Amino acid sequence: MGILQNLATVQERINSAAIKANRNPQDIKLIAVTKTVDLPEIIEAVKAGILILGESRVQEAQRKVASYKVQGVSERIEWHLVGNLQKNKVKNAIQLFDLIHSIDSISLAEEINTQAKKINKTQRVLVQVKISKKETKRGADEKDLMALVTEITETSNLKLEGLMTIPPYFEDAEQARPYFRRLRELRDEAEMAGFKLPELSMGMSNDFEIAIEEGATMVRIGTAIFGERK
Ligand SMILES: *Cc1c(COP(=O)(O)O)cnc(C)c1O
Repeated sequence: MGILQNLATVQERINSAAIKANRNPQDIKLIAVTKTVDLPEIIEAVKAGILILGESRVQEAQRKVASYKVQGVSERIEWHLVGNLQKNKVKNAIQLFDLIHSIDSISLAEEINTQAKKINKTQRVLVQVKISKKETKRGADEKDLMALVTEITETSNLKLEGLMTIPPYFEDAEQARPYFRRLRELRDEAEMAGFKLPELSMGMSNDFEIAIEEGATMVRIGTAIFGERK
């Protein structure tokens, strides 16, 4: 099936999940995750109405952002970094990305702030939280979250917009629900302590409807739009 048809299906599924959860579908931003996807397909998605592209590697994104500009596509899009970020890539990353989803330590936050300051940018960020103890997934531990949120909020050139998580993969998406719910609870706790964290980046191709039911405001979808990755 083509990208256009896939996108229509995904958008429909987002809308139904939102309505089922008594939410406004407009409150859920679709991020098309384009890692390993080539530029012609990316441009097809943008022409079909995609406004946000998600990449997981800085170097791959660098190539694509450059050639996207050369193509002269007029649509204004956002590029988000959804994969983890190494400190030596921060300088390049902040030149490319409107939003970085993967802050998981104070030292990474400090490096992003230092580099952002140099180019006079206020970098929008999310904190990635590791909900599962057993997982090898990246992310800040729950117990360190408040310290990290406090630190970032007090940092001049960072703008903290919310939280992100990647649950383990389950065949049955319903099993991911407690992870999504926990991220929302952590957000609510932080808001009760006075922080503003409107965005919850959670949900991928196999589980985004559950994530929406649990409060996702950004879903990161690759396979369901572009097909299986090579
Ligand atoms: C690859 C990736 C996605 C998209 O995954 P799909 O299962 O293809 O939808 C979402 N988030 C992150 C962080 C990813 O690396």
